[in-house]
Amino acid sequence: MVRYIVVAGGVISGVGKGVTTASIGKILQKYGYRVTSVKIDPYINYDAGTLRPTEHGEVWVTDDGGEIDQDLGNYERFLGMDIPKRNNLTTGQVYGKVIENERKGKYLGETVQFIPHIPDEIKKRINDSAKGYDFCLIEIGGTIGDYENIPYLFAMKSLEREIGKENIIYVLITYLPVPSHIEEMKTKPTQQAIRLLTEHGIVPDFIVCRAKNSLDKVRKKKIETYANIKSEHVISEPDIDTIYRIPLDLEKEKMGLKILKEFGLEPRAKPDWKKWKKLVDSISTGKNIKVAMVGKYVDIGDFTLADSYVSVNQALKHAAANLGAKIEIVWIDAKKLEKDDSALKELKNYNGLIIPGGFGSSGVEGKIRAIGFARENDIPFLGLCYGMQLAVVEFARNVCGMNNANTTEVDGKTKYPVIDILPTQKKLMAENRYGGTMRLGAYAAMLKDDSKVLTLYKERIEEDKKRIARFKNNKDESFRLGLLEKGKKTVLERHRHRYEVNPKYIWKFEEKGLVFSGFHVRKDKARLMEFIELPEHRYFLATQAHPEFKSSLTNPAPLFYGFVKACIK
Ligand code: GLN
Repeated sequence: MVRYIVVAGGVISGVGKGVTTASIGKILQKYGYRVTSVKIDPYINYDAGTLRPTEHGEVWVTDDGGEIDQDLGNYERFLGMDIPKRNNLTTGQVYGKVIENERKGKYLGETVQFIPHIPDEIKKRINDSAKGYDFCLIEIGGTIGDYENIPYLFAMKSLEREIGKENIIYVLITYLPVPSHIEEMKTKPTQQAIRLLTEHGIVPDFIVCRAKNSLDKVRKKKIETYANIKSEHVISEPDIDTIYRIPLDLEKEKMGLKILKEFGLEPRAKPDWKKWKKLVDSISTGKNIKVAMVGKYVDIGDFTLADSYVSVNQALKHAAANLGAKIEIVWIDAKKLEKDDSALKELKNYNGLIIPGGFGSSGVEGKIRAIGFARENDIPFLGLCYGMQLAVVEFARNVCGMNNANTTEVDGKTKYPVIDILPTQKKLMAENRYGGTMRLGAYAAMLKDDSKVLTLYKERIEEDKKRIARFKNNKDESFRLGLLEKGKKTVLERHRHRYEVNPKYIWKFEEKGLVFSGFHVRKDKARLMEFIELPEHRYFLATQAHPEFKSSLTNPAPLFYGFVKACIK
């Protein structure tokens, strides 16, 4: 029997509804329950692939190749599990499906209408995602009062009627502003949000009050009276130093036990937060490690910037927390390094260098110079996706003497196309119909014996056996494993790219000492390079994948862990 927790927001968006939802999930997990999470995005786009300028900033990628908004990333990071793309619902998908069904005659001559067909499709999608779990959290994007939320709120009421109120609760997350000219925390917007929700026949069971500071007794009482709910169901959630502290703070208010009680359930396990708490504490303390992240988004402005690589930032924090260190990420505009030698030399002042994923030619020469500098000066280096491709370009040019070697993404006429789109790949992509020309989602990589990568992935190899089995049993997804060789240690990492290392040059790179420490063998036997490393270097590792999508606080991504460890030394 699945129980549902619907989370909706009031007053304003951007107050951490996603991380609060994820935190509630984490708490219930700690009480011994199986939890999953669904995100509803009420926009008409089919997915986030088109929602954001695809070639800017970060799009979350799921194991099964979904390109999704960041919230699913928060759920995965908190819950430590793989969440499939179907757990993200958009209005575009819902209406698209209903129209498709109508065209196929699936409604048998009925008049297809907003009610019941749209809420029915929403419920069907949610039930599919919830199957097999004790709890399914449903986060409704935007805020109460948005016109586009109406179908979803209606669907929730309809779900409630089907399963009974005892199996569904509503959590309203609001914001209490403190206007600077009166310096007083105002509850009125929250009262209005409550009213808007009740207009849909929904009375919140819990109200989580986000604000700069904790809620005082007077205001708690006000909200409690207005909403007619138990005072202990008004939960205060003030600003904190790190998002990972939210579950701990909610637990101080006994939110987990209160939710279980609401469902008439008992804890199945005694929560143990010791490890989590220790990690959270070291995020803001610990030895300071300064990492240079050379990217191309710097000119968009500081805020966009941090968000552009949100998963990379998080993965660095996870790794550092596990090593008792604190990460300081310094953004360096790749373009600045193109000609300026003194800016390049300043890289010496950092503990390590990261080149994250990216697209297009902007800042590429600067990134290549930074990689060369790290290689020659024994500075720890981690390359992610484009970062690996450009490390190969750098090695080709400066170690193998291939003048002007390049990726064909930047120079289609280069004499040495060391990174290129493989001709057979285009064909395979078309057959699999996985959107445009991208290699998307998790792919298996077999690791080379005695490599640094293999050592770093030791524990993940065990964990990934389950994921491999899952793909093996799914005929639509088994292509992700490719041809697995017996006895080879195998891991799965997520991808989002078009170009590959050109196999034609691999022998040449190997001859000069570059080790290809992991590769994927496609069903047509083509070998796609997944990892590179330089054995003599302190830490020079790069991957075609995005390991940042598989990192969590309690289980940091191996390559990030190794990188931060090298930085500490
Ligand atoms: N632009 C490169 C490609 O398409 C790398 C993409 C990335 O870094 N995600 O292959």
